[in-house]
Amino acid sequence: MNYKKNYDVIVVGGGHAGTEAALASARIGCKTLLITQNLDAIGQMSCNPSIGGVGKGHLVKEIDALGGCMGKAADLSGIHFKRLNESKGAAVIATRVQADRMLYKRAVQGIISTQANLDLFSDTVSSFLIQNNRIQGLITANKITFFSNCVVLTAGTFLNGKIHIGQQNYSGGRAGEPASHELSNSIDSHGFKRKRLKTGTPPRIDGKSINYSKLEEQWGDTELPFFSSKTCFNDVPVQKCCWIAHTNQKTHEIIKSAFHQSPMFTGNISGVGPRYCPSIEDKVFRFSGRNNHQVFLEPEGLNTNEIYPNGISTSLPFEIQVDLVRSIMGLEDAHILRPGYAIEYDYFDPRNLKPTLETKTVKNLYFAGQINGTTGYEEAAAQGLLAGLNAGKASKGKEQWIPGREVAYLGVMVDDLVNSGVTEPYRMFTSRAEYRLSLREDNAYQRLSKVAFDLGLIKESDYNFFVSNEIKINTTKKILETTKIKPTSFNKNYFDKFYKISLSKEISLLELLRRPELKFSDIEKTIDYLGFDSKIGDFKFLKKNTKFQIETQIKYQGYIERQIKEIEQLKLVGKTEIPENFVYDDVKGLSTEALMKLKEINPINLSQASRISGVTPAAVSILSIYIKKYKREKRNSIYAD
Ligand code: FAD
Repeated sequence: MNYKKNYDVIVVGGGHAGTEAALASARIGCKTLLITQNLDAIGQMSCNPSIGGVGKGHLVKEIDALGGCMGKAADLSGIHFKRLNESKGAAVIATRVQADRMLYKRAVQGIISTQANLDLFSDTVSSFLIQNNRIQGLITANKITFFSNCVVLTAGTFLNGKIHIGQQNYSGGRAGEPASHELSNSIDSHGFKRKRLKTGTPPRIDGKSINYSKLEEQWGDTELPFFSSKTCFNDVPVQKCCWIAHTNQKTHEIIKSAFHQSPMFTGNISGVGPRYCPSIEDKVFRFSGRNNHQVFLEPEGLNTNEIYPNGISTSLPFEIQVDLVRSIMGLEDAHILRPGYAIEYDYFDPRNLKPTLETKTVKNLYFAGQINGTTGYEEAAAQGLLAGLNAGKASKGKEQWIPGREVAYLGVMVDDLVNSGVTEPYRMFTSRAEYRLSLREDNAYQRLSKVAFDLGLIKESDYNFFVSNEIKINTTKKILETTKIKPTSFNKNYFDKFYKISLSKEISLLELLRRPELKFSDIEKTIDYLGFDSKIGDFKFLKKNTKFQIETQIKYQGYIERQIKEIEQLKLVGKTEIPENFVYDDVKGLSTEALMKLKEINPINLSQASRISGVTPAAVSILSIYIKKYKREKRNSIYAD
């Protein structure tokens, strides 16, 4: 039958990409349908119930600034919040939240079900209606036809998904859910290059069977770092502790003895897995010299004893999984609730996408999420938001949005995907961005709120919320700039005693904050100690995040300006030739992936190097410095001879 309502946009798949796509399209006023296999699985986390981390957290902040739901849902369900890399530079400081799996799903479903312009439908899409290389609609397994001129496909790991546990394998989209077979086959004739990737998940453990007294506790931060600027402390559930365990020689022996039963090594799995989230058998194989690997035992929620052992994803046979888990101190009596498994699935070469995420071969058909070769909830969600927005814009004949690499990590990811493609699951890292000093978590709202408002993704009240924060930031910076400290003996003593700073001339609070040894909290202490007029007391009402933003803007101002110039130069650098005998191992700061690929491909110049997937613009910049050094040393040695 033909469904009797036409939609501006239909989104297929209710995972992380699909929910953001549907919400974005509906938010900009398009009549939107989200059609997914099982409505109850909307917002389901296939693997670890955790959101964020370095690079990924940056994406979540951007999603939040663009009005998406991932950050809010993670905050509302967060049971363990942590700010990572606190002692490192602002560019790599990132938020990570361990979520209650059920609460996360409930939060996403709550947001979806109250969104205006958005209908839901439960069914499996089996084929698309495509005429003259244009999408017209789709047909479901129940033979219902839905019409729409714009469709976003976000089918995750479900397309021809095949689950592996040891030598056993069977069809599945993820544990307990069916794969989708007909859909990817049905579009084969439309010029899409279909390939295979794989990912995996660890066995889950019953917390009642763990001896916690043998494990190291790990609590989250006391001052909870939220993803969304609007989250309040009272919105957040009770916090829980995680634990740290370690594999050992015995664990590794058990794993090595079962290599011949691992589908990864027997050739049963042909898809490539995520380099930065390898299975435990892969880690033991690749890092054979290591005596142990860390395992983080993370609670899956508040009302469950289920524990996620982060670090031992595996597709070894179940009996080996039991032995390997029980060889770990504290897990000697562990009861496994669900076996670990690997999953192989279809993805489409993302080089067939425009930077809007529309496919090049079928007009108004958009792809987002894992099917584009990425891995991770955050990567999927960010793409989903962009694809849903652009599908909505296309349906109204309006200009679509392409975020630049200098604007957002979302822009970096899409640019990488559509230009370089993938040979392994793509995950976000800060090292992928050449503009990373400008693309910080703390300034995501500054980078994107105006764009989000202009695109219709956020409400005026949300934009005003951002604007009022900007006013606070600028007012505070002005006060810091105009408040001067005179070199009186009292002031000199204070700075000498507490900061080992010798105050020789009058200095503003802003100049003081620029010094590496002082933080915003030190400026507040200084104000209290030296006593200033009442205007300055306002600082106490600023949020921690706002203070951090002010501090970062002031401290990094010079670096950011320099970075912009460097980027301009980088464009010229492409022509630099790479000497034939250049030793890449000598170059410090390259990622393992970049190093491996450079050695393998041996590019002739930096322009070729920059086009190798995994060789980021940041890596090209490092290479250029080392090549200059190499050439200089070579010249000097010729003259010396
Ligand atoms: P999904 O979240 O998979 O959602 C796809 C949705 O589409 C599902 O709701 C499905 O029912 C629906 N669907 C599919 N086909 C159809 C159809 N034909 N019709 C209607 N609906 C359809 N990521 C990490 O970052 N780290 C990890 O360690 C990790 N491990 C993983 C382990 C496993 C076993 C799995 C399965 C995934 C793992 N992931 C991991 C990946 C992570 O789950 C995905 O990156 C993320 O969920 C992708 O989001 P998505 O929206 O693209 O797809």
